[in-house]
Amino acid sequence: MVRIAPKAIPLSGPIGGTPEQEDYLEKVVKEFTITPNYLEKICARFMSEMTKGLDNEGQTLAMIPSYVEGRLTGQEKGHFLALDLGGTNLRVVLVTLEGDGKYKTKSSKSRVTDELKTGPMRDLCDYIADCVDEFLIEEGLSNAETTLFLGYTFSFPVLQSRINRGLLKSWTKGFNCSGAVGKDPVMLLQDSLLRKNVPIKVAALVNDAVGTLLSNAYQKPETSVGLILGTGSNGGYIEKMERIGKWKGGETTSDEMIINMEFGAFDNERVVLPVTQYDNKVDRLSINPHCQIYEKMISGMYLGEVTRNVLLDMIDRELLFGPDNGNYDLKAFSTELSGHYAFETSHMSTIEADGSPDLTRTKEVLDLNLNLRDINTVESKIIKRVCEVVGTRAAHLAGAAIAGIVRHCEISPEEGTDVGIDGSLYEFYPSFEDRIYEALAILLPDHKDVRKTVRLGLAKDGSGVGAALTACVAAQMESRKKGTIA
Ligand code: ADP
Ligand code: MG
Repeated sequence: MVRIAPKAIPLSGPIGGTPEQEDYLEKVVKEFTITPNYLEKICARFMSEMTKGLDNEGQTLAMIPSYVEGRLTGQEKGHFLALDLGGTNLRVVLVTLEGDGKYKTKSSKSRVTDELKTGPMRDLCDYIADCVDEFLIEEGLSNAETTLFLGYTFSFPVLQSRINRGLLKSWTKGFNCSGAVGKDPVMLLQDSLLRKNVPIKVAALVNDAVGTLLSNAYQKPETSVGLILGTGSNGGYIEKMERIGKWKGGETTSDEMIINMEFGAFDNERVVLPVTQYDNKVDRLSINPHCQIYEKMISGMYLGEVTRNVLLDMIDRELLFGPDNGNYDLKAFSTELSGHYAFETSHMSTIEADGSPDLTRTKEVLDLNLNLRDINTVESKIIKRVCEVVGTRAAHLAGAAIAGIVRHCEISPEEGTDVGIDGSLYEFYPSFEDRIYEALAILLPDHKDVRKTVRLGLAKDGSGVGAALTACVAAQMESRKKGTIA
């Protein structure tokens, strides 16, 4: 698959700021840089938290059994629908599995407004049902004789009790719909679909990390890890049943099960993560303070906001756009920059890829999106440097999670594994993957050529295809059951 993300072009040479600017920047760089020793400490803690979560309910790393047992063969076939509620977009996908690891998809995408994200759950479900209905009409499937099976990728912490049953534990990523926590998102959606006469059976409830693992596995059977690096971040991996100490679900058809780690919550206690004042500000002003701290340091929804907090602090100290620079008025122009979440992570991507000597693209992005006019080159370099350290820290932290899983599963260099990753951050952020590999090289010293043994790869729309694959598994289970009764 073609990777679109360009390489990051790091700043070279001196920034040329005032001594005060240089001192402040040095402090910021230090705060955001994770040394190899410290990265090792984070990884070790991540592993011990994994074990705790596998042995006991209610731990910080929830380590939720997904009820998806065993592995895929790549030979699964049929038409399935997938619905992906990821955080930023809602996607409806028709997946045609053709066997031999091949599939075709057709999809539609719509935005979930803030109003829907924080209003009554019934409104959100009705909106989703309408989107599905419209899609079926477009695809000429609305009068289909047979009910289509749908896999519902619902990427929030859910305590699952069956392949299509679960209870929402809490909202994350800016969602806060009323009437949903403690309820079953499948039942709520099925209710909306029934009321609107949409001929769909919600057959599987799928976490996006689990779905990503499955879709990658359909094409690359040696996949044992799936990762989300998008609005939020999370991971799933294949665990041996005997290591899931808390399992009370009785006999299973396989000795392995996919675990939805919910690792965005890692170190909510803040024992090990190098949380800065800028992260604290993001956390405190978020919709879910004190929750998902790891996610807030890693993922797309928050990285721009962390960067913005650094820049605001510099502005308040008159180290950026200050009176000395002859364009003091810019402070007045920068009301945009004062807006919560105004500095998007995608701006960081553009800035990191900007290799022009006087950072023309950077200036353009700041002007066009934040109304910051006439920024000088020193200021642009400062902003670029801040983006670099925030983005690099995110990738290194994501690498600590992957290394933690590889070490926990004792995946040797001889054995190796594929790691499927879905999400715009991984897909588009410059050099995000290279920086993950930097962390892996430090944390997995036995893997001499870590790119060959821990093979990261984009599972584009993996959560959608994975949901369809899970619906397929659910359909097989159902027909097997009917077969037994008949
Ligand atoms: P979802 O998480 O809803 O499934 P995505 O995987 O598309 O959706 O991730 C959306 C997130 O990715 C947003 O938070 C956005 O900030 C971030 N993002 C989008 N485009 C880019 C980009 N070019 N560079 C970095 N991050 C991006
Ligand atoms: Mg997604």
